[in-house]
Amino acid sequence: MNREKNLQQVQTKTKVWDIVVIGGGASGLGVALDAASRGLTVALFEKADFAKGTSSRSTKLIHGGVRYLAQGQLSLVFEALKERGLLLQNAPHLTHNQSFLIPIYTWWERIQYSIGLKLYDWMAGKMSLGASIFISKEETLRRIPTLQPAQLQGAVVYQDGQFDDARLAIHLAQTADELGACLLNYAKVTGLSKDSNGKLTGLTFRDEIRKETHHIQAKMIVNATGVFADKILQLDNPSAAKTIQPSQGIHLILSQEFLGGKDALMIPKTKDGRVLFGVPWHDKLLLGTTDTIREKAKLEPEALQKEIDFVLETAAGYLTKKPSRADVIAVFAGLRPLARPKEGSTKTKEISRSHKIIRSPSGLVSLTGGKWTTYRKMGEDTVDFFTRITGNAIPASATSKQHLHGYTETIPAGHWAVYGTDAQKIQALAVQDPALAELIHPRFPNILAEVVWACEQEMALTVEDVLSRRIRFLILDPEVALASAEKVARTMAGVLHKKEDWVDAELLNFKKIATKYLIPKH
Ligand SMILES: Cc1cc2nc3c(=O)[nH]c(=O)nc-3n(C[C@H](O)[C@H](O)[C@H](O)COP(=O)(O)OP(=O)(O)OC[C@H]3O[C@@H](n4cnc5c(N)ncnc54)[C@H](O)[C@@H]3O)c2cc1C
Repeated sequence: MNREKNLQQVQTKTKVWDIVVIGGGASGLGVALDAASRGLTVALFEKADFAKGTSSRSTKLIHGGVRYLAQGQLSLVFEALKERGLLLQNAPHLTHNQSFLIPIYTWWERIQYSIGLKLYDWMAGKMSLGASIFISKEETLRRIPTLQPAQLQGAVVYQDGQFDDARLAIHLAQTADELGACLLNYAKVTGLSKDSNGKLTGLTFRDEIRKETHHIQAKMIVNATGVFADKILQLDNPSAAKTIQPSQGIHLILSQEFLGGKDALMIPKTKDGRVLFGVPWHDKLLLGTTDTIREKAKLEPEALQKEIDFVLETAAGYLTKKPSRADVIAVFAGLRPLARPKEGSTKTKEISRSHKIIRSPSGLVSLTGGKWTTYRKMGEDTVDFFTRITGNAIPASATSKQHLHGYTETIPAGHWAVYGTDAQKIQALAVQDPALAELIHPRFPNILAEVVWACEQEMALTVEDVLSRRIRFLILDPEVALASAEKVARTMAGVLHKKEDWVDAELLNFKKIATKYLIPKH
C-alpha cells in the first residue's frame, strides 16, 4: 500500500468513483474489499489510522455469540457462525481455533449449557470447529488449574475462533489494495456535496498529514464510521435523528498465569447478567468485557474505575489466584456502535448486535452495528445497495472465497504467523541489514525489520500506528511500548525521511496516548 500513490489517484479531478467509503474499521474495510472484488472503483478515507477506533479494541473472538443464542437471536448466530467458518478458511494465518471452558456448578447449568452448546455446534453445520463436550471436575482443573474448585462439577468445552483484530484490518486493507481499491489513512471527511435534487455527488476530505483539502466525486457514498456515524448523517442532514448508542467495553491484560493453560474461560452469566471472557492472547490473558452506556463518541475512550473493579471482582469470584489492580498490565476501552434503542430503553446488552443499513434520501448509505465476525457479510450487503442507488447492475459478491493478503496453509511459527507469506519477506530485510534483526524489546519476539515493513508496506505513519496496531505492544504492555518508542521512532524516521523534531513530537504524542493504557497500581 502506497499512500503517496493513492493520494495522487484521488486527486484526479474528472474521475467519478463507483463507491467512496468513509471509515477504515472492520465495516469500511469490508465494504471496500467487497466493492473491489466485484470490479467497482472504490476509494476509502480513514480520519486516523486503519482500525484506530473500535476495530482494534475487541475481545478478538470470531464467534457466533453463545450469548446471542441464549437471547434467542438465532438468525444472527447462524449468520455469524457461517462467517466465522469463511474467515477461518480465507485467512488461516490470521485466525485460529480456540477452546473455551464454561465452568459448571449445578446439574441445571450442566443440562442448560450442554444442550445450548450442542445447538451451537449444530448451527455451525459443516463449518463446525469441533463438537462441544462435558468434562469432569478433575479434567477441568487440569486444563484451568486456577479455577475455584468449590462446588465445581466440571465444564462444558466448546470451540470458537480467535484473531488479532488490528492485524486483520491491515490485511483487509492490503487485500482491497491489491484488488484495485484506493485507501487512505489520516484523511478526514469534512463535507458532502449534492446536486440540485439533493442527491449526493461527492465529498470533501482533509489530508491530515499535508493539511490539504480535496474533493472527490462518487456515485455512492458509504458511511462506515462506527460510533461516529451520526456525525456523517448530520453532515448530510443537519437535523438527522441520532441512530447510534455508544456502549463501552473494557479489557484488562494480565499475565497468562492467572488461567495457567491454553484454554479460555467463559463465564456466561456474571452478577449483572453479562458475559465475561478470559482468553489467552499473544501469551497474555485478555479479560473482559463490560457494557456501559456512553454518550460521546471518542477515538480514545477511557475505562471507568467501576468497570475495572467489575472485571477484577468477577474474575476473582472464579479463580483461586485472584487478580488485583496491581496485576493489571494494561487496560483498553472500545465503543460498540450499537443501534440506538427505542425511547426510554437503556439496556444495551439487549440491543441487537446485528448490522443495519440505512439509506438516506440523499442516497447516503450508512452501515451501523454488527460485529467484526460478520464484516464480510456487512460489506456484501452494503455493496448490494449500489444497484438501487445507481440503477447499474453489478456482479455478485466474490468475497466468500477471497483469500486474504498473506494467505498460506503453511503457517509460520510463533509471532510470524499473522504475517503469512509476508513473514519471509520481513525476515529477508533482517538478512540484508543485520541491524534490523535486533529485538524491539527483550520481552517480545518482534524485530526492527517489522517496523520498516510497517512503514514501507502497511501505511504506518506514526509511532502509535506501529506500536498499537502493526505490533500490539501498546495494548499488551504499555510500559514495554513506552520503553520501545524511541527505538521505533528512530527506525521510522530513517525509513520515512523524518528529522529530529518529528522524532521528538512523535515521542511526546505517544507518551500522552500510552499513559491511558496504564492504571494506577493501588
Ligand atoms: C469491547 C468490544 C468487544 C468486542 N468484541 C468483539 C469480538 O470479540 N468479536 C466480534 O466479532 N466483534 C466484537 N466487537 C464488535 C466489533 O469490534 C465492532 O463491531 C467493529 O469493530 C466495528 O467496526 P466499525 O468499522 O463499524 O467501527 P470502527 O472500528 O470504530 O471504525 C470507524 C472508523 O471511522 C473513522 N471515521 C470516523 N469519522 C470519520 C470521518 N469523518 N472521516 C474518515 N473517517 C472517519 C474512525 O476513525 C474509525 O476508524 C466488540 C466491540 C467492542 C466495543
